[in-house]
Formats: sequence, C-alpha cells, structure tokens
Amino acid sequence: MASVNYKADGIVFDIQRFSVHDGPGIRTIVFLKGCPLSCLWCSNPESQKLAPIVMFQRDKCIGCEKCLHACKFGAINLDAPKRVDHRACTSCGECASICPTGALVLKGERMTVEKVVSVLKKDTVTYRKSGGGITLSGGEPLVQWAFAAELLKACKAQGWHTAMETTGHASEDAVEAVFPYVDLALLDIKSMDPQTHKRATGITPEVIHRNAPRIAQLSQTVVRVPTIPSINATDEEFVRISHFAKTLQGVDTIHVLPYHTYGENKYDLIGKDYPMGGEIKPLPPEDAARFQRIVQGQGLRCIVGG
Ligand code: SF4
Ligand code: SF4
Repeated sequence: MASVNYKADGIVFDIQRFSVHDGPGIRTIVFLKGCPLSCLWCSNPESQKLAPIVMFQRDKCIGCEKCLHACKFGAINLDAPKRVDHRACTSCGECASICPTGALVLKGERMTVEKVVSVLKKDTVTYRKSGGGITLSGGEPLVQWAFAAELLKACKAQGWHTAMETTGHASEDAVEAVFPYVDLALLDIKSMDPQTHKRATGITPEVIHRNAPRIAQLSQTVVRVPTIPSINATDEEFVRISHFAKTLQGVDTIHVLPYHTYGENKYDLIGKDYPMGGEIKPLPPEDAARFQRIVQGQGLRCIVGG
C-alpha cells in the first residue's frame, strides 16, 4: 500500500454527501478548485479560479454595512448591484466571516487530506452498503494533482471506491500520479474539432486527446459528452467522438449529458454574466435519442444523462 501524506493540503470548495450521480452507489463528491478550461455552460463557475471566491446573495442582505467596514481592500461597494469588486478582492474572507445573514459566503477552503478524510468517514457504512464511494470533481481535480493523488491514496487505504470527473487536460506527470488511484474515470470529451473546442472551452483539445489513452489504460473509463445545442450537438460530432472512444482501451460506454442551465444563477452571485445568454434551449429529447442511436450503432453502450 502506497504511503499517504495526510498533511498535504488543497483548496476544496464543497463536499456533497449522499449523491447518487457521478459513479456507482451512494457517493460523497469532493469539489476541488481550479480549472484550465472555461466552458461556456460551466455549472460551477465559482470553481474556475484556484483561489477562494466571495459569492454575494442580494436577497439575504440586510444592509448592516459590516462587510464594508471589514474589507481593508476597498472591494465592497454597497451601492453596486454586484457588491464585490473581484479585481480588488484578495479572497481574505473577512467580509464573509462577519456577515450576519450569510449574504456573503467565501467558497473555497484550504483543507488537509486528513481533514477531508474525517468528513468522508461519516459515510463509510453507506459506501459499503450501496456499493458507493468517493468522487473527485471540480473545477478540474488535476489542477491540484499532488493533493488529489494523496487524497485518492487515502481513500484507497480506507478501501473506498474512487471516481473522478475530469477534463483530461493536465500534464503527463499529473496523469501518472493520480489515475493509479482512480477506479472510475469520468472523462469529458467535448468536441473532436479543435476550433469548436476552443470556442466552447477556451482551449484546443490536443492535450486531452493525448492523455485520454493513458487515462483509459490506468482507470476504467467512461466518456462523457456535455451536449450543447449550437456547439457540439451534431450527428457528425457523435460519430467522431464514438470513433475516438473506440480507440481507448476498455472504453465501452458513452454518456450523453444534455445541456442544462443549473449553474446560471451562480454567475450572478460571483458578479459575472452567464456566457450562454438566454438563447440556447435545452437539448430536445429526440436529439439525445438520435445521438444515443449513433453511439450504439458504433457498437458502444450509451446512457443519456449519465
Ligand atoms: S474577501 Fe476580503 S478583500 Fe474580498 S471583499 Fe471580502 S473583505 Fe474584501
Ligand atoms: S455584512 Fe452581509 S448583511 Fe451586512 S451589508 Fe454586508 S452583505 Fe449585507
């Protein structure tokens, strides 16, 4: 058994217990901060920057002005609709810790492996009875890959099943350090076309496509396709992604993840506009069914919704 550095630390922005998504059974999802992509439809925009971020919920504010006096960096403006100037904010968290109503919340906390494991241990029996375990998500967990590797090692030392949601965009060192401790990799493939990928995520996909075969060698891997009308929701894209998936060792399943707007309100809370605007409609069920038939026609299993 590999030794674990329980003092290793990283920035975690949420831990969600009792999830029935993102892996088998009942799971606890640990969300790590930081992501090298900026997908237009990102449902966790507060995760994108590695540093903690302040979120402001206007309807909880009672106007007590405590945050204004607490901020030493001039980042609070009571008259501004978005309240926090994120260019001036240093993520010190003073405003959030003094806010009496929870209108200001700091998302992102430095935690050691030891501390995260102490939270995860609360559900050990649930993991065992349900066939569940732990899923790392983000953000992109590989941004903090040294921490992720230690955390995953610690989970394996407990005998827990481990899964990881990943974009696959990382260094080879990160891939080699992390995936030996990942039982199930949920690997997003957003587009095979470099220009479409760049327009949708801010980066071209070469690194992801280069890492994918190695990830599939090291971990059981499912390919997931966030399916976004007007971006990658085309028959041609699903044919190309299916062909690519078939080249990956052991991959026999693609998940079609229909576009949703669940993260839209969070953009307002962090003072940003929703990049997708209001123009894009949810993926029609008949389109999802057609993509499913295309994938199945390539000899792969396909689940709509993951
Ligand atoms: S986190 Fe710190 S710097 Fe940022 S707005 Fe709050 S008090 Fe000011
Ligand atoms: S401390 Fe909280 S409740 Fe008071 S003004 Fe600031 S955001 Fe509003």
